[in-house]
Amino acid sequence: MPAELGEFGRIARFLAPLAAGAPGALGLTDDAALIALAPGERLVVTADAIVEGVHFLPGDAPDLVARKLLRCNLSDLAAMAAVPVSYVMTMALPVRCDDLWVERFAAGLAADQAEFGISLLGGDSVSTPGPITLSITAFGRVAAGGEVRRSGARPGDIVYVSGTIGDGALGLLAATGRLVGLDPAERDYLADRYRLPRPRVTLGPLLSGVASAMMDISDGLVGDLDHLAAASGVAAVIDATRLPLSTAAASVMAEDVERLETVLTGGDDYELLFTAAPDADIAGLAAGVGVPVTAIGRIEAGAGVQVLDRDGGPLPLTRRGFRHA
Ligand SMILES: [Mg+2]
Repeated sequence: MPAELGEFGRIARFLAPLAAGAPGALGLTDDAALIALAPGERLVVTADAIVEGVHFLPGDAPDLVARKLLRCNLSDLAAMAAVPVSYVMTMALPVRCDDLWVERFAAGLAADQAEFGISLLGGDSVSTPGPITLSITAFGRVAAGGEVRRSGARPGDIVYVSGTIGDGALGLLAATGRLVGLDPAERDYLADRYRLPRPRVTLGPLLSGVASAMMDISDGLVGDLDHLAAASGVAAVIDATRLPLSTAAASVMAEDVERLETVLTGGDDYELLFTAAPDADIAGLAAGVGVPVTAIGRIEAGAGVQVLDRDGGPLPLTRRGFRHA
């Protein structure tokens, strides 16, 4: 068996190619990188870390772990209406992560760099006695004043979500064998949605100047909408019957209506949650980039989030789940 490459060898072999050609990366030969912006642009910065056993499952394929890590950050950039530019990464790896693991991890990053138009600028790699811990700080660009914050929702605005809701949280259950009786194809679909988020990088920037408030859904629809409403000083009312569900999620709900709680409060959706004035042509914008968008409710004066059931009455929800009597 060939000797392991060691830290510098790994950087040269697996990580430096991820920075090849990136303006400002300087071939990873210097102590830091450079980021250029056009006049009138602002740099948008976000950081997300993931930990084995907490944000991904022990034994998950390294390329998928890499892509989830990068995509969580891309989702945050999209939520500010920013276009991805570059990222830096810190890896803390136990010794069991060998060269092959790093090679496969880097291959996942390379695939997503090509898909999303972003490249590595630098980073650090250390060893740890603990679980795999990975952090990316990502940079995006937006025209000054074109960023969309959480604080702009106003009474009368419509509440929208992209894609489908609940697949991530149901996917975690599927990936850990806790959705028994589900059709295997639907189980695999949900597990894939947990392991590989679809950040809405094309829709986010289009909503600059259109959405009044925006964030991505990472910790559950109800909890995240509560953050948006609080930042805006308003209340949000959504209809449970209007939640966009995948076919697989609808199958789960048909079997067990209590799973609505998972859909509403589970994490890992990485869809965009935003508000806009009633006359904004959201459907037209969304159709232009082929991303489904659904109106799920409205903004009112007041505070907090209310979820209405099919009878129009409020569900007894807390941010973390149903309030059980
Ligand atoms: Mg976020």
